[in-house]
Parts: sequence; C-alpha cells; structure tokens
Amino acid sequence: MAGTTDAATEVDVRALRKTFGTGADANEVLRGIDLSVAAGQVVCVIGPSGSGKSTLLRCVNLLEEPTSGQVFVGGTEVTDPDVDIDAVRRRIGMVFQHFNLFPHLTVTGNLTLPQRRVLGRGRARAAAVAAENLARVGLADKADAYPAQLSGGQQQRVAIARALAMGPEVMLFDEPTSALDPELVGDVLAVMRSLADDGMTMIVVTHEMGFAREVADRVVFMDGGRIVEEGTPHDVLTTPREERTRAFLARVA
Ligand code: ADP
Ligand code: MG
Repeated sequence: MAGTTDAATEVDVRALRKTFGTGADANEVLRGIDLSVAAGQVVCVIGPSGSGKSTLLRCVNLLEEPTSGQVFVGGTEVTDPDVDIDAVRRRIGMVFQHFNLFPHLTVTGNLTLPQRRVLGRGRARAAAVAAENLARVGLADKADAYPAQLSGGQQQRVAIARALAMGPEVMLFDEPTSALDPELVGDVLAVMRSLADDGMTMIVVTHEMGFAREVADRVVFMDGGRIVEEGTPHDVLTTPREERTRAFLARVA
C-alpha cells in the first residue's frame, strides 16, 4: 500500500537501506537513512568517499532500487512497486560530476532532445524552454555551440539547464564541481545558488564547504552508510558534536 506524506515535504526518505551483492559478498551501503527535505529547502550532504552519498541520491530517483525503506517525492511514494518510474524521474532533475552532454548535438540540441523524447514537446516549445533555461544559467550566447567548444564549467551549466528544461520539482546534484578546474567552479556554484534563491528544492552532495555554509538550510554528514550528524551549517560545520564529523572536516578544510 502506498503511504502518504506531508505535502510541504518534497523529499522524504524513511529507513532506507541498500545492500549491493548477496551472501558473503553482501555490502550494506545504506544502513537506515531518514531524511526529510521541505519544499524550497537546500540540503547539502557531505562525507568521506564510499559513505553512500551517491547511492542515496540514486535511490531517490530510482537509478538504484532500495533494498528496504520508503522514498516519497512530492507526496508520491516512489518506492511503491506500482509506481510509474518514468513519471517519477520526470519530477527529479539530476546533475552528475560528469556532464554527459551529447557531443554531436549543439547546446540547444542537448536541451531540446530530452524534452521532445520524454515530454513529447513540439520543436518550437522545446526550443523556447531551452532558450529560457540557457539564459537562466548565463549561456544564452552559446545556444549554437557544440560541447567541445565550451569549458567544463560551461558544459556543467548546460547540463543544469538541460535538467531544468524538464521542469523538475527537485534537483539532485552529485559533486557537480568535482571534475572542474578550480577557476571554473565559481560560475557553477553561482548558478546553483541562484536556483536556491528561486526556491528550488535541492539535495547537493558536495565538498564545497563554502557553498554548504552559505546556501544550505541543512547540512547532513554521512559516514558508513548512516547519517552521523545533521543540522544547520553552523551546527555541523562549525560546532560539530561528533568526533567523526570533526575528523572529516579537519581533512577537507
Ligand atoms: P560516495 O558517493 O559517498 O563516495 P557511493 O554511494 O558511491 O559512496 O558508494 C558507497 C559504497 O557502495 C562503496 O563501497 C561502493 O563501492 C558501493 N557501490 C556503489 N555502487 C555500487 C554498485 N552498483 N555495485 C556494487 N557496489 C556499489
Ligand atoms: Mg559519490
């Protein structure tokens, strides 16, 4: 039976567990995650490599099937076996470390293709939405460029615009600036910050502590498949209670 959740709660993760492999090879990567993100909130997830951050995001949009527990997006239980997975994914935008643009398509082509294929939008409407979202990420002048003609930071902003063009309710970011040269990180973070200011609900896995401190409503520290500590940026980043959080922050700072 599908559960329900508060309408103001955009993402609700309950007792989420994920095990990869079976028997002697079983690896429990998420060990009971509870996380609730209100509409318009920005939650930054931090933690060491291998702590399960990517798996958590991938379970939210069903790129991975949770082993147990529930995930709700916009009040719909996406872990309900009868759910329309494609309909769920349309509500969730995801931006990865590697932007995966189609190299043979222009920037506009990269933005219109998924709108036409997945949403069935007509050519003119898709192009108009593409132009609107390219402007939103500051790349209106690159509409006819090919990905190879753009910097990594510009390509990542195209990837963000591509996700936005689908009209998502929630945006998931998995280390969106980790593959970029340091001088290109700022423009991508500025786009993410403006999305947050516009009221987008966002879950952001990041090592950018400055961004987390300034933009996040809440910071979640994960280690070993569990949320070890969460709270305001000040709570978690400045006055952490847990030794594991302090040790992690000392390493990344
Ligand atoms: P993080 O993003 O915090 O670095 P991940 O969620 O990527 O962590 O990975 C957590 C653990 O899950 C790692 O030990 C990783 O090897 C394992 N893992 C992730 N994806 C898979 C998969 N598809 N198959 C098997 N193990 C996986
Ligand atoms: Mg990861």
